[in-house]
Amino acid sequence: MAVPSRHEAIQFKVEERLHAIYQSFAGQTRVSYRYAGGELSYAQLYSRAAILRHELANGPLAGAARPPVLIWGHKDPRYLIAYWACLTGGWALVPVEPETPVERVRQIASACGAGALLIADPDTRIEAQLADLVPIVRIDRDGDGAARAANDETGPLPSAGINPHDVAYIMFSSGTLGHPKGIQVSYANLIDFIDWLALLLPEAATWQSVSGNIRYCFDVSLFEIWTAWLHLLPVTALDHTDLANSNGLIQRLAADRVSLWVSTPSIIRLYLKNPRFTAETLPECRTFLFCGEPLTKILVRKLFERFPGCRVINTYGPTECTVAVTAVDITEAHLAAPQELPIGYARPGTTLEHLSQSEPMAGDGGEPLAGEICIRGLSVGNGYINLPEKQAAAFPEPELYRTGDWGYRANDGLWYFKGRVDRETKIQGVRVDLDDVEMHVRSLPGVDDAVVSVYSLDGQPRALNAFVLGPHNQADLRTLAELLAAELPPYLVPRFWYADFDVKLNNNSKLDRKEIITTVGKARSRYVHCVLAAGVRREL
Ligand code: AMP
Repeated sequence: MAVPSRHEAIQFKVEERLHAIYQSFAGQTRVSYRYAGGELSYAQLYSRAAILRHELANGPLAGAARPPVLIWGHKDPRYLIAYWACLTGGWALVPVEPETPVERVRQIASACGAGALLIADPDTRIEAQLADLVPIVRIDRDGDGAARAANDETGPLPSAGINPHDVAYIMFSSGTLGHPKGIQVSYANLIDFIDWLALLLPEAATWQSVSGNIRYCFDVSLFEIWTAWLHLLPVTALDHTDLANSNGLIQRLAADRVSLWVSTPSIIRLYLKNPRFTAETLPECRTFLFCGEPLTKILVRKLFERFPGCRVINTYGPTECTVAVTAVDITEAHLAAPQELPIGYARPGTTLEHLSQSEPMAGDGGEPLAGEICIRGLSVGNGYINLPEKQAAAFPEPELYRTGDWGYRANDGLWYFKGRVDRETKIQGVRVDLDDVEMHVRSLPGVDDAVVSVYSLDGQPRALNAFVLGPHNQADLRTLAELLAAELPPYLVPRFWYADFDVKLNNNSKLDRKEIITTVGKARSRYVHCVLAAGVRREL
């Protein structure tokens, strides 16, 4: 019997796996989505996606060579209907948030050659502003296609013609020169991710429901929606405009018996401020999965206290490589170890390596030397739209991606993140790696997270600022500064220290570093601060 090639095997999987998941929704009365004001069943998700696919194929996208389609929405059930219509129709889906400025949506639509924009949100202002550029389809909020789909009026899935390397979705992130950068991920990448997800979370079969914390324009949301879809679980949609009201959100999570929590560390930090965010209120919340930012020991210790015996998974990866490429369960041993928390072991089908094949040698104290993390394998996506130079630099070979992240692998195959390769700066001639300093500040006692930036005077970088989460008063800041001064050479010790500022999240629900630096920088004296005296820290 002929052994199928890897390409054939993937082709088979795309059709079988994706369709099997989609078909499992048909006629299923279980809830797929709980949002403020209602519920969507799996049967409705199935049939309404089928009807929308049919309408698109026979309307604005008739005869077109499968162009990408923009989906405009935030936490609205119509977003998921549009998602499945695009996925099964073979149109690469491109999420855009209603908060995105119109000019940027125009740039995104032009950059990817969008064939339509689907409005999946009560805010429909975009329609008038983009109608000249792309056909617009408003999805009806209350449409119910169950009866029509039961009669199978919508016909067979057109996706038989989908090639595994066709683009399944495009995420736009900030690019150089202010233009958004389109990151393409293929059907083969997506299936590989789904297969990994099934292995990563075997306990999902016993779960009641999954959190819906993450915005859809950030790919970490795929952890939430695909876990739900694999196990026919409901997602509890948590609107970002409500994040400040964690009481209300916690109540919804409790009512829905949420079992899986997915978020960035920054999001859970907001919830942890609420004393009701505990196992007593959320007895079924047993698994916490993180991605997107460094996970800190303080945060995990708090979680272990509030949710005794819970599972905490740290995952790491760039959008270019399909959500995440490593994972590890954090244990007490990791918390007790001197180094930062690990980011995980490479997922099956993917390897992490340094650019030069030679393994990094051990540095001082036995910690291996860090190098740029490169990702190789099935998770590596198709790359950027129309950015050939960037593409060549970041994807030097097919299925190989240079992350720009600094990291090392311990002997047991566990990877550690050490910051970005490109945050090096010069302060009065001395090379300073801001990430390195940030790591040190973050590991000081009582510090939950930290941002370090350059302090400039007359346009010249002169010193460093440290913005810390955790401490609240000047005495604490002074102690931290002095501790760091005892640990690092003087030029690496920030001169200006700040605490007690408002924490804002960016579009990807990560700590908004720029916002913190700008806001505090504009009114420095208004915030709790401390200036490290020259006696402690030798001036440059
Ligand atoms: P994005 O493409 O927006 O998901 O950003 C990917 C980048 O976020 C990575 O290249 C890392 O710099 C950072 N990142 C993702 N996960 C982690 C993690 N667990 N720990 C530290 N940094 C992370």
